[in-house]
Amino acid sequence: MSQRAANPAFAAWTRRNVLAHKVPGYAVVVLSLKNPSRAPGDVTAEQLDLVADWADAHSFGEVRATHEQNLVLADVRQSELFAVWEKARAAGLATPTFGLLTDLICCPGGDFCALANAKSIPIANAIQARFDDLDYLYDIGDIELNISGCMNSCGHHHVGHIGILGVDKNGEEWYQVSLGGSQGNRASIGKVIGRSFAAAEMPGVIAKIIDVYLAQRQAGERFIETVRRTGLDPFKLGVYGDDAVKERKQNA
Ligand code: SF4
Repeated sequence: MSQRAANPAFAAWTRRNVLAHKVPGYAVVVLSLKNPSRAPGDVTAEQLDLVADWADAHSFGEVRATHEQNLVLADVRQSELFAVWEKARAAGLATPTFGLLTDLICCPGGDFCALANAKSIPIANAIQARFDDLDYLYDIGDIELNISGCMNSCGHHHVGHIGILGVDKNGEEWYQVSLGGSQGNRASIGKVIGRSFAAAEMPGVIAKIIDVYLAQRQAGERFIETVRRTGLDPFKLGVYGDDAVKERKQNA
């Protein structure tokens, strides 16, 4: 086995952040802007200068920004992947979590946006801090978590498998959670699971939702597929406990 193939960090990055290309010998590289110590999608001028250099050297001078708040080098020779990874890692752009729970979408929210009902970025960072174990993230697998700071929905929370919406209640910031949203060919709008939560509760709420998924999933079933199969009731029960049972009896 070559030294490169034996490098576990490079292997993890290629598994998550390198995608298939139509042309043999090429690959698509996702440069992660999900460094947990920064706002999702944030990038410095110095990093952008480096990315421009890598695009010239490795991807026909082209770089794309995605609505998932990452950058993409769309046409990289497979023989150059290790060199690209080494550069990206040195620049802090190689977090190997593309498509996982911490690769979330988050609008600027109350830290920067005058329209916000609530802050978004601290919620994103708190969730990223709670889920900082790569092995656990890989076990959870593909999942989309989107956060918006108000109903204008710049973070696309409606179509997140898990959606978080900042709401204002009597001048205080609260967060409404929805499940079952999806973008793509099977697009769907998420459904709100119940009462809203305070900011400090949010990482724990996401942890409970993930626990329900791990307990309910069938072999090979992604999060969104489990939600579609089971409906919201198991998740409501996991998050709200007895309150969900009472609500179900009242509605029966
Ligand atoms: S969703 Fe609301 S808070 Fe977030 S960026 Fe858009 S307008 Fe601002």
